[in-house]
Amino acid sequence: MKYMASVKQNTTIREYQNFVKEVYGLPNDRYFSLWDMVSNVERFMMRGLKGIRKNDKEKTKINLLIAFSWFMSIMNQLHIDIESQIWKRFPYLCSYCGLCSCFCKEKNIKERQSISVDENKRPKTLEGFQNMFNKIYPAEKRTIEHAGVHLAEEAGEFSEALLIYRGGHKDEDFENLELEAADFFSCIMSVFNSLGMSVAKELSTTFSDNCHLCKNVPCTCNFKDITDFKF
Ligand SMILES: [Zn+2]
Ligand SMILES: [Zn+2]
Repeated sequence: MKYMASVKQNTTIREYQNFVKEVYGLPNDRYFSLWDMVSNVERFMMRGLKGIRKNDKEKTKINLLIAFSWFMSIMNQLHIDIESQIWKRFPYLCSYCGLCSCFCKEKNIKERQSISVDENKRPKTLEGFQNMFNKIYPAEKRTIEHAGVHLAEEAGEFSEALLIYRGGHKDEDFENLELEAADFFSCIMSVFNSLGMSVAKELSTTFSDNCHLCKNVPCTCNFKDITDFKF
């Protein structure tokens, strides 16, 4: 029987990151630089935003799932354990006002508040993290367009942080890059919360059997397939 890699609905963030490594690590290393991968994150994210403008939930969903997977490829290449970074940045609290749910706007918070972490609250699964983000930043307190603009903003900050780190190779810039990665992740969760969809469930459908296009592990899509591919 052929070996199968898949994302389960109860996947942890770490397991999903490892799935991406198993299926896409080889072609990523051979074909793509970090900048190529950043372009793919942005390219599919923008298609997802177009889905928001056109009120096409399916278009938004599939494109953001692919953008999210390219993002995980970047995490793998940079050896960032994104699950730990997310928990460090969002320990069931807003990273800025330190509250759940967030009161940044209402209280007009002007500087980052110090926060104490309760390890018992740490979610175990990707779905648990998505639910946590909905508690911190409830979908009903914003529009999906707002969530989409925030996602685009964080993608820009992530690229900027990567550019700065690659320019100077300083440890503090790498730490900033890790924070920006956690922020980008949180915004992906927020858009799915606004869509009323579970990221883990949708990933488990799209990635039920290796690469979603060629169905192989490692993925054998050729460079042209990947660059021509669009939803
Ligand atoms: Zn806040
Ligand atoms: Zn493939």
